[in-house]
Amino acid sequence: SERIKSRIASRDNFFSLEFFPPRTEQGASNLIGRLDRMGGGGPLFIDITWHPAGDPGGDKITSSTKIAGTVLTYCGLETMLHMTCINQSTDTMLKHLEKTKNLGIRNILALRGDCEDENRPLNDDGFNYGVDLVKFIRKHYGQYFTICVAGYPNGHPDNPSYKNDLHYLKEKVDAGADFIITQLFFKANDFLQFVDDCRDIGIVCPIIPGIFPIQTNRSLVQLTKLSKLDIPEEVANVIEPIKENDAAIRKFGIDFATDMCRTLLNSGKVHGLHMYTLNLETATAQILKNLGLWCTEVARPLPWRASGKLERKS
Ligand code: FAD
Repeated sequence: SERIKSRIASRDNFFSLEFFPPRTEQGASNLIGRLDRMGGGGPLFIDITWHPAGDPGGDKITSSTKIAGTVLTYCGLETMLHMTCINQSTDTMLKHLEKTKNLGIRNILALRGDCEDENRPLNDDGFNYGVDLVKFIRKHYGQYFTICVAGYPNGHPDNPSYKNDLHYLKEKVDAGADFIITQLFFKANDFLQFVDDCRDIGIVCPIIPGIFPIQTNRSLVQLTKLSKLDIPEEVANVIEPIKENDAAIRKFGIDFATDMCRTLLNSGKVHGLHMYTLNLETATAQILKNLGLWCTEVARPLPWRASGKLERKS
């Protein structure tokens, strides 16, 4: 099949959907059902996130690798698996990569992962930064995997210098990353400025904005805390009086994200969107419908349904 890399470069108005692996088998089965439906909307690819501690319960259906493999083979959707490398041995990372390859997955979002101690001693022949994983994958697998890396429109929280952080982003791209997906942000201009700053220092690969639909006050607070981002005053002021009213917040979140995405898509600098779905369907689908990106015409049959039809015919 055509690789994500070339699809991103050649298409306009695409979108990708990010999900995290659920904790229970029931959750996993619900998620696959949701992906079945959302797959019909026509995402360019699906992302599955990685647990900071690696891939716990690697053989269980709830592990990142297993979920990613299921999305690819069962739902027939192009899949990208996230992978963090900090505190992992080269043997462990090779094992994860081999398993990923064996499942047929061709796309990896290569990450460092969060560090508890920024002043940790560096690991001489192991993984210290995202760039080390990019180099490691290219060294062991050549061009087999399409590699994505993370970018930070508001700077990465561990680096007080935005400019210096951009320099490290360029290092990841120079080491072989094919494209960039960004951390969430609240202002279209922050992203557009970030793209200009990247282009100025010679980062030429596609940069896809990470869009976070605000859905509840709880998840907004949780995610901004985790990403060490400030909620802008104009957003906080709207949320505060309605913070107990999930339906009102969701409506605000849909309108807010729709407006921001319109500005992004109209800028001529953005060709696709990456949606942080929080494993939920309604808000993300509504935003993409508002933008005219959600495919509603043809229901895409799952491979097993298509083959089921063939069997019944014969
Ligand atoms: P890096 O690129 O390694 O950068 C980390 C910090 O080190 C930055 O401050 C940078 O400026 C600095 N730095 C980089 N290189 C050097 C160097 N050579 N010398 C000195 N300083 C350097 N986390 C998960 O656990 N699982 C996930 O699935 C996951 N998915 C994510 C998806 C996206 C799109 C994004 C944006 C983030 C995701 N994260 C995930 C969070 C991510 O792991 C954290 O943000 C992490 O702190 C940084 O990872 P990185 O690969 O971007 O770091």
